[in-house]
Amino acid sequence: MATDRPAIIGGGLAGSLAAIYFARRGHNVTLYERRPDIRSHELPAGRSINLALATRGIAALERAGVYESIKNLMLPMRGRMIHDRAGKTSLQPYSRNPDEVIYSISRTELNRRLLDAAEATGHVTMKFDHCCVGIDPAGGGLQIEHEPEARVADRTHKPIIAADGAGSIVRRALMQATGEQTDEAILDHAYKELSIPPDANGRHRMDPAALHIWPRGGYMLIALPNLDGSFTVTLFLAKDGEPGFNTLTTASAVEAFFREQFSDAASLMPELAELFFSNPTGMLGTVWCPRWHDGGRVLLLGDAAHAIVPFHGQGMNCAFEDCLLLDEALERHAGDFSRAFADFAASRKPDTDAIANMALENYVEMRDSVRDPGFQLRKEIGWQLEARHPDRFVPRYSMVMFRTLPYAEAYERGRVQQDILMRLSEGIDSADDVDWKAADSLVTERLVRIPVSARTQRNSRAG
Ligand code: FAD
Repeated sequence: MATDRPAIIGGGLAGSLAAIYFARRGHNVTLYERRPDIRSHELPAGRSINLALATRGIAALERAGVYESIKNLMLPMRGRMIHDRAGKTSLQPYSRNPDEVIYSISRTELNRRLLDAAEATGHVTMKFDHCCVGIDPAGGGLQIEHEPEARVADRTHKPIIAADGAGSIVRRALMQATGEQTDEAILDHAYKELSIPPDANGRHRMDPAALHIWPRGGYMLIALPNLDGSFTVTLFLAKDGEPGFNTLTTASAVEAFFREQFSDAASLMPELAELFFSNPTGMLGTVWCPRWHDGGRVLLLGDAAHAIVPFHGQGMNCAFEDCLLLDEALERHAGDFSRAFADFAASRKPDTDAIANMALENYVEMRDSVRDPGFQLRKEIGWQLEARHPDRFVPRYSMVMFRTLPYAEAYERGRVQQDILMRLSEGIDSADDVDWKAADSLVTERLVRIPVSARTQRNSRAG
């Protein structure tokens, strides 16, 4: 059946939000999702049961008119709660401004609400259990398999928006058609999801207003709160090493490792070994794709275009921001897909490259640097510089999580700021010993003012 309706491949986080944006522009969209409808089926989460939502994601949800409908899913986290080996905790706030927080949110609930909102537009036809198994980018042809019956049908759509995730079949077809190559850089660390159940009264067993981290140098455990009183816990560890997933092959090895490294967490996980062996070990990686579009016919969005490692909590936020920026490009080009896709891809690629690098760098910060007194000192000096020069000096973490200035700019400014911090902290142990006159000159000489629009901090506390 020939049709010139836009198709979205993948009804995950990016696909469902993109469907809303396209519908709001008056398009009748068909959304093909290979899984059953998650609103009526309980599916294994597969990966990350909950996620950190921050300003960029919120800005995109706001523009699409769906932010209000998801607010009651959000749990504010004001900082990192660091757990040492003895179980002693210390809070490292994310910002000197207490309103700058990130939010833990359930992946499935968020996805369900976005699908509801897409359906409510009246312009989105949802095809669940429909897997895209082939694509002809130049002709706009799709082969869609209706999974329960293993029946494959040909469909024609324009444009085809690929939001089919890190393993995107559309990306592979696009690369094959153009003879280009994607670099899929798989990390030598993997992850495992575990859980801390609620207490007997259904309450959280740790502070729910923080992201908990057990940094251990080469690896780490983290935990994010859920609305039902539980925490989703994730172990990030080398695939092969000592310790590594390869050495944790028996219940006693897992229990001993957790008792030794994460004793306070282990005591809150009665089903540790059971969960460890029943949950999958997840792969992590970065997708560096040289081309995201084929004229106005095909466009890759979200993880399909630029999957990143999860250590900055930005993959979903970045995918949502893609949807917002694409909508702005369509607005600028009066709905001309060809021009809008080219404009979007050219301006966005340096930003997604930058966040991919920052996400890799943040793994070291989370699992190691947070324990270093030098890191704490530089953070303290950074906050004071921010207080003195709020329009010039904003810590890199804040630029990524609480601002909307382009990632590439945050990356570049972050480099300059790090250099300033290294110079100011050299040979001192306390921020009281900083030469603030010299510090002010360095900031005004080396950092231009951040444009007002990108300074706006949009995620004031939910609810
Ligand atoms: P996906 O969520 O992968 O969705 C792709 C969809 O396409 C799926 O529904 C899939 O079923 C469907 N699909 C795939 N192939 C086909 C096909 N051939 N035909 C039809 N449908 C298809 N990001 C954050 O912002 N904050 C975080 O805290 C965070 N934590 C994370 C923790 C972990 C452990 C991991 C692995 C990731 C984390 N992320 C986080 C990243 C985030 O999960 C992704 O960036 C986000 O899910 C990308 O959304 P997407 O829609 O592009 O892809």
